[in-house]
Amino acid sequence: AWQRVKRRLRAELGEDVFASWFARLELQEVSGGTARLTVPTRFLKSWIESHYLDRVLATFRSEADGVEGIEVGVRGPMAPARAAPVGMAPAAPKAATPVRLAASAPAAAETAEADRAGRSEAADLSGAPLDPRLTFQSFVVGRSNALAHAAAERVAAHDGGGPVYNPLYFHAGVGLGKTHLLHAIGHAAKEVGRRVIYLTADRFMYGFVNALKTQNALAFKERLRAIDVLILDDVQFIQGRSIQAEFGHTLNALIDAGRQVVAAADRPPTELESLDERVRSRLAGGLVVEIGTLDEALRATILQSRLEAVRATHPAFEVSPAVAEYVAKAITANGRDLEGAVNRLLAHATLTGAPVTLETAETAIRDLVKNREPKRVKIEDIQKLVASRYNVSRSDILSERRTAAVVKPRQIAMYLSKVLTLRSLPEIGRRFGGRDHTTVLHAVRKIEKAIGEDSALCDEVELLKRMLQD
Ligand code: ADP
Ligand code: MG
Repeated sequence: AWQRVKRRLRAELGEDVFASWFARLELQEVSGGTARLTVPTRFLKSWIESHYLDRVLATFRSEADGVEGIEVGVRGPMAPARAAPVGMAPAAPKAATPVRLAASAPAAAETAEADRAGRSEAADLSGAPLDPRLTFQSFVVGRSNALAHAAAERVAAHDGGGPVYNPLYFHAGVGLGKTHLLHAIGHAAKEVGRRVIYLTADRFMYGFVNALKTQNALAFKERLRAIDVLILDDVQFIQGRSIQAEFGHTLNALIDAGRQVVAAADRPPTELESLDERVRSRLAGGLVVEIGTLDEALRATILQSRLEAVRATHPAFEVSPAVAEYVAKAITANGRDLEGAVNRLLAHATLTGAPVTLETAETAIRDLVKNREPKRVKIEDIQKLVASRYNVSRSDILSERRTAAVVKPRQIAMYLSKVLTLRSLPEIGRRFGGRDHTTVLHAVRKIEKAIGEDSALCDEVELLKRMLQD
């Protein structure tokens, strides 16, 4: 499972990001639901903890049953005494260089890593390469993504006269086509001769930190600002005080200069909790479009087009209409799983040489079907449980009452709703007696802060989470 976690991180973050932060991350043990990971330096530890903990945990949880938490430690007797100075952002360049060089890993590994970082620098300044498969042509338009698609085409084709929607911002859950649309915009804009940079949040952070380390920050910024279209993917992962400030400056500079910015994230700008209020409102100031879940018709068409693409290289690969229908019905979650299902069927057909029957299809994709039905916690259950633990009634929680005895459980319940369900802040607000989303956000922030300061509360909330989840 650990190898799969690493492989996925590598695939999702890109080679250079992975090599810098994760290549020397090792699994020590898994016990009591906690995976203990180690790295050779404190700098790496603090960087991973502050920027990637959620990411690593999420990946772990989806690959290994029973892992509920992770811990990162510094390994080896030669762990450097010099840690990042307290109070400084982990990205601080001064701390980064000496600590990394003082690492206890063999010199050869160090050099190789430095080499990779050096070589990839040109690459991260010019952005990540665009995937040639992700074009407008291969993008299937349906009810849930029609608006996003129209806006994307409009922005990509736009020539002169000042951008229409700036920034253009997409949000949607995983696998619903955000990255596909962003790449499509990139290709189309390049075709008409515009200078395009596509960056994921990870690459943006990495490029910026790297530029600081090599005293190239100015060049990095100028480079970013000397383009026509900046495309930023997975903006929700941008974290860290100095980096998000830089992100804000870049955004302002580009938009003010009339350059196009396109961004995507898993949530609307107002819910990007790790970003400053001003940055969030700047992101929300253009056109914000949500991409909805894929309905069955859209899934069936995406599936057909994937199957056709595969047939170009595997002409003998046949999938009957009945099997295709079954797959499109069964895999409801997202486009990524549809792609995974096609790969499974192909592997099956190639390995056995037998045609894909309904039965073999069922077996081949069984885990994709099951895995995608995570246990959902209901807001109503959260409200009931919290109410009973704090000796108030559920209607107190939904009411307008503002006494301390009611306010605290209400805020905890809102916090849990945000953490344990996929509901948006406005939706949570509605389910808490029609409150505004800012009230929910306030509650979430408040409890987050209180948990950090009060270990009893931290345990209490942790306990509530466990009770709701099993
Ligand atoms: P996201 O970035 O939203 O997580 P991706 O853009 O990576 O999702 O999409 C996941 C997979 O599903 C990709 O292989 C993508 O090509 C495919 N996909 C998603 N939506 C569509 C669509 N409307 N048409 C064709 N392929 C799609
Ligand atoms: Mg994506």
